Parts: sequence; C-alpha cells; structure tokens
Amino acid sequence: MKILVLNAGSSSLKYQLISMPEWDVLSKWLVDKIGKWTVIKHVGKIGKVEIQGDLENHSIALKKVLELLVDPTHGVLNSLEEIDAAGHRVVHGGEEFVNSARIDDYAKTKINELCEIAPLHNPANLMGINAVEDVLPNIPNIAVFDTSFHQTMEPSAYMYSIPYKYYEKYKVRRYGFHGTSHKYVSYRAAEILGKDIKDMNIIVCHVGNGASVSAIKGGKVVDTSMGFTPLEGLTMGTRSGDLDPAIVAFLMRKENMTIDEIDHMLNKQSGVLGISGVSSDMRDIEDGHIAGKTQETLALDVYVNKIVKYIGSYTAILNGCDAVVLTAGTLENSAYIRKMIADKLGWLGITLDESKNDFRWEERIISTPESKAVLMVVPTNEEYMIAKETYDLLK
Ligand code: AMP
Repeated sequence: MKILVLNAGSSSLKYQLISMPEWDVLSKWLVDKIGKWTVIKHVGKIGKVEIQGDLENHSIALKKVLELLVDPTHGVLNSLEEIDAAGHRVVHGGEEFVNSARIDDYAKTKINELCEIAPLHNPANLMGINAVEDVLPNIPNIAVFDTSFHQTMEPSAYMYSIPYKYYEKYKVRRYGFHGTSHKYVSYRAAEILGKDIKDMNIIVCHVGNGASVSAIKGGKVVDTSMGFTPLEGLTMGTRSGDLDPAIVAFLMRKENMTIDEIDHMLNKQSGVLGISGVSSDMRDIEDGHIAGKTQETLALDVYVNKIVKYIGSYTAILNGCDAVVLTAGTLENSAYIRKMIADKLGWLGITLDESKNDFRWEERIISTPESKAVLMVVPTNEEYMIAKETYDLLK
C-alpha cells in the first residue's frame, strides 16, 4: 500500500511517500513558503531537485509535488493511481478522537471546531486535507492526531484546578501533544530492550524546538507535560513552558500589553530565546554555555533543570521508572545536553556510559549495564507512525 504522509503547516507542506507494511520511503519533500517564493525540495529516484515559483495555496503546491512524483526523471511512480491513501498529521483531536480516524464530513467538522483551541495548527492541517481531497479525490484520508495517544490520562492528570464550569463549557483541560512521537518512541524502546511494554514504566523526553515529557505505564500515557495547548511544560525554543499564571495579569498591567501581545510573548519570544536573548536554537545555546557566556549558561541550566524536574515527578507518578528515553532534535543530536541531564539522574540509579554518548541520531542505550534504569536514545519517526496508523486502520 503506497501512502502519502502529509504534515501541513500554515505555509508549508512536508511529505513522504511510504510503501507499507515494508516501510520503504519512496520519496520525500518539503514545500516551504506557500503563497510567495515557494520552494519545493524533492528527493526522488535520482536524488534531490529544488524548484522555485509562486504557488498560491496548498492545492496548487500539492499538484506541483504530484507532477514531480510521476515525472519521468525525478518521479517514483508511473501513475498517481498508485497512491492508495493519505495519512495526515492533525495536531488537535480534542476529546473526540482517542484514535486515528478516517476523514469524512463529520471528522472535518470536528477538526474545524477544534481550530478555536489550536488556531496555529488545525487550520493548516485542514488545508492539507482539503488539498488532497481536491487533487486526489478518490483516495481515503486518515487523520493521525498529536493528542490521541494521551487520551488515556485520568481526570486527575488532565483537569486544571480552575472552576469546573470551564471544562464543561469549553473543554478547558490538559490534552498533551507530540503523541505520535511518544507512542512510536516508547513502543520502539520496549522492542529494543526485548520487553513487553505492558510490563514497563517509561518516561519519554521529546525535546526539539517544541518539547514535552510523558509518563507511560504499560503502554498507556498517565501524564504528559503539554496541556490545553503546546505552551505548557518544558522550557522550549521560543515557548515559555510552565509559569505562574499570575505573571500574565501582572505584565499586562505593568507593560500595558494586550492579550495578543502577551500570547505572542509567551509563544514566540520566551523559552531559551527569551532567557538568552540570543537564539532559540540549542546549538547556539550549547556553544554559549561551553564558552561560559552568562545568558546562554542560564538558559541551558533552566532548560535542563526543567527536564530533570519532570523526570523526577513522573517517576513518582509511575511509582518507579524502567527507562528514560530521549528523542527529537536536541536530544537525538546533542551529547553535551544528554550528559547534563544524565548527570542529574543518579538518584534514579542511572549512570551515563560516556564512551557510548558521543553520537548523533542513532538508537542507543547510553547508561551503564549496572544502572537501575535504562537511559537511551530513540530517534523519533512521526512519518513512519502516521503511515503505520493509516495502514493499520485501512487494513
Ligand atoms: P525538532 O523540533 O525536533 O526538529 O528539533 C529542532 C531543534 O533541535 C533545533 O532547533 C535545535 O534547537 C536542536 N538541535 C538540532 N541539532 C542539534 C545539535 N547538534 N545540538 C543541539 N541542539 C540541536
């Protein structure tokens, strides 16, 4: 089954064409800056090709990509009829979608309703769905939600301590995000360790530009650090993560800030960018830390501290932890930050094997064999997981 995996942003489309169940990635692309100066980076049969032009919207961009897919030189298909299905990343599935779902009018209505609480993501995801319906009208579309894997949380984990009526009226509660990644990484970790996930307590730290931690018991999420939106939890590239909610009212009064300005500040100007004043990219922050620069040092110390704090509290929630699994851009790539975290996990019986830590983007156990819990890296693979969910659902 050839599956088009699609991750649509407001002005971008990331794709992979994957043959399942053998998981053969036939082609992948990135379409950036849809609307103006669009760039398509396409990797096909004979390598990479880059195309530029003004592509007005997602449907026009998708048409261009499909032309590339059947192009005699750069393509990988003889005909578009060979595409059997599309799997879409959809960020917010609310309480409605506890699993991946076939997209029909009802599902689209629900995804659309959730735009109100995921205004940065769900509208873009819908644009991707509409583009496929427009250009490939005969194939089934499957939505794979970032929130679904976390829907096993109990109310004790997902309720905020604010008047209950806001949950009843607006479904204000914690949802959690990056679920596709947390699912893939936890199941893969159990597989690598040769254990049944049902017998394991796992903490997954997905730390990239966005970042979240989850506590997974027997393959089911019991708690996760992101909440009503992807703003809660860890210190991120530009997002604040946890803070005293009273700060919002305080700064609005002191600085005469509007709701939109405070929202922008917390989502786009905070995190390590906000503390360092230099960059949201952990490579720059790490370099500054190594060079002993004050603001970068502070930013990285706060960043690591928060991760360790969550590992500690989730160990308590899980009543013990068998494995801490590190994934996503920062933790797949940075030996330095992995070591900073590992050095604070002695209380969990974890000792880093430094001879194993010097690598990027590999599946690897990095704790010593004597460690009481395993510390390991499992690179995430959301595209594979979307293809697998699509395949499993249609099969
Ligand atoms: P992601 O959001 O998972 O794609 O992760 C992207 C982020 O990973 C970048 O913005 C960087 O902050 C971080 N990153 C990537 N490579 C490295 C590296 N070698 N060292 C530290 N951080 C990295």
